Amino acid sequence: MRIKIAVVAGLGVLAWLLPYTIDSYAIHVVNVIIIFALLAVGLGLAMGVAGQVNLAQVAFFGVGAYATAILTTRAGLGFWFAAVLAIVITVVIGLLVGTPALRVQSHYLGIVTLGLALAFTNWVTNAQIAGGAEGISAIPAPELPGVDLSSEYLFYYLELIVFALALAFGLFVVRTGLGRRMRAMRDDSLAAGALGAEVPLLRMTAFLLASVYGGVAGVLYAGLIRFVAPESFGIANMFLLLGMVIIGGRQSLIGCVTGAVALYLVRELLSDHPTYAQIGYGAVVVLVVVFAPTGLAGIPPRLRALRRSSGTAARLQPFQAYETDVSSDDATILAIDGISKHFRGLKALDDVSLSVATGEIRGIVGPNGSGKTTLFNVISGLYKPTAGRVEFGGRDMTNVTPYRLSRAGLSRTFQNLRLFGDLTVRENVLVALDRSRTLDSWQYVLAPWLVSARDRRLRAEAGAVLDRFGLVEFAGQAPKALPYGIQRRVEIARAVAARPGLLLLDEPAAGLNGEEVRQLGEMVRSIRDSGVTVVLIEHNMGLVMSLCEKVTVLAGGRIIAEGTPAHVAATPAVIEAYLGDVMEIPTEATR
Ligand code: ADP
Ligand code: MG
Repeated sequence: MRIKIAVVAGLGVLAWLLPYTIDSYAIHVVNVIIIFALLAVGLGLAMGVAGQVNLAQVAFFGVGAYATAILTTRAGLGFWFAAVLAIVITVVIGLLVGTPALRVQSHYLGIVTLGLALAFTNWVTNAQIAGGAEGISAIPAPELPGVDLSSEYLFYYLELIVFALALAFGLFVVRTGLGRRMRAMRDDSLAAGALGAEVPLLRMTAFLLASVYGGVAGVLYAGLIRFVAPESFGIANMFLLLGMVIIGGRQSLIGCVTGAVALYLVRELLSDHPTYAQIGYGAVVVLVVVFAPTGLAGIPPRLRALRRSSGTAARLQPFQAYETDVSSDDATILAIDGISKHFRGLKALDDVSLSVATGEIRGIVGPNGSGKTTLFNVISGLYKPTAGRVEFGGRDMTNVTPYRLSRAGLSRTFQNLRLFGDLTVRENVLVALDRSRTLDSWQYVLAPWLVSARDRRLRAEAGAVLDRFGLVEFAGQAPKALPYGIQRRVEIARAVAARPGLLLLDEPAAGLNGEEVRQLGEMVRSIRDSGVTVVLIEHNMGLVMSLCEKVTVLAGGRIIAEGTPAHVAATPAVIEAYLGDVMEIPTEATR
């Protein structure tokens, strides 16, 4: 921590002294680099952190710059007033560009945003108010009492202060709840939604952030160059910007800044050979994508991971049981009534009805392909049922979005594990613990201390969850590097961290060894005893028989039996459904 403060202070002093050491051309280059670094941070937030392909960043930049130019020269407003309006206009455009992100994803979003960027250059080249191909010149310099901002040396300080604030804000976002949820959405938007992340709103927020950075950069550009023309905001600069973010490392804002500085300097060095420059940084981008997909910023963590793997290995600690919560009522927590789910011709679920009492551990068994996972997907809002009704906690929850269900107290795990691979184990748990709303993100601007206080509280809670599940030694690791059994445990810890009333576990014992299955049984029973109702899909019949009070058997999308484990095991229809299947139904003797 102390070292970090010293490094930041040292860099600050160096940055402050820089203008004393360089000539007027160099200070101009530095000023332009800072503007590109701002743009890169904005693009990094949308694309690297939130995973939203955004090729319109250069258009946000253009809107900010052109709005300042038009409002000062055509409408005669003062620079600062025009600047504020320009940023507001850019944010409005940012939200418009973000609208398609609510519906389309990844490469489609790339095409849509690219189209919007092209439309912008087209418009400014042709519109009279934007000065056509000649652009707009004679933009007044921003006025500040006692400081002549038409001097590039002094303008540098304005940029430096704005940039430091913008970077600090970006880092604050990335390291707290909002950024964590955006990163979770990038890694697995489905799982993020199932843990309460309001995915569409988060995508909009990503575009909003990118547009603020673009707008601020545009205003600074207009104030610095005092001339705007279409080619500054064209596709060539968009690709330069993309290159900066990819080379630097899109998941790290510091990486984006590094990439911006490095690539701009390369372009500057090669400015006499524009063709070679294009080929040069094209080649560098390709090399980075192939050999260092996480960019320059990904290299130090990789080195650290190498060093760690040679050190002592982390160990799994035993699970610590919950206190028993004896308060019980016989209410029905989950009621499924006549649910059908058809995929084209296939009836994955056909008129399924069942109800689960509060405090129960219900087993769902059935041969592969019998519709068990589909049933969970319908309950947790991932699939819309073709017919029927789901009632959860006494309320109709059919067709309710996953994040609303999560907030209402439903939590689940996935058959094929859906951990956030690029988040640490601790952060995986934090995403589930954090129940704050995306709409409360205004606190980041108006009350950042509330955000930090909440984050500190959440970290303490996450520590307690990791401790209970014996995962403390893995807290800082990425889950994808961990053994399968530990990943399964992390996913259960994450699902429980969301403090559900109803927990759905989809084949939690798959791939576990005998001892791990025993520990799992202990965990599930303790989770139930703490007051959580559990529904469990499982192939391990021993586990089902020992854990569940009641078992529902599915075959071919229909319920063929329901009752105590002993009762269903003796039902002829069940025995018939399992004939030929690899599983064996344990009898009294083998249990
Ligand atoms: P289980 O979990 O019991 O093994 P599933 O619920 O995964 O079974 O699948 C039930 C049936 O529905 C299978 O035949 C499967 O191929 C089909 N199915 C599941 N999801 C989809 C989907 N998204 N699109 C088409 N078919 C699906
Ligand atoms: Mg399944």
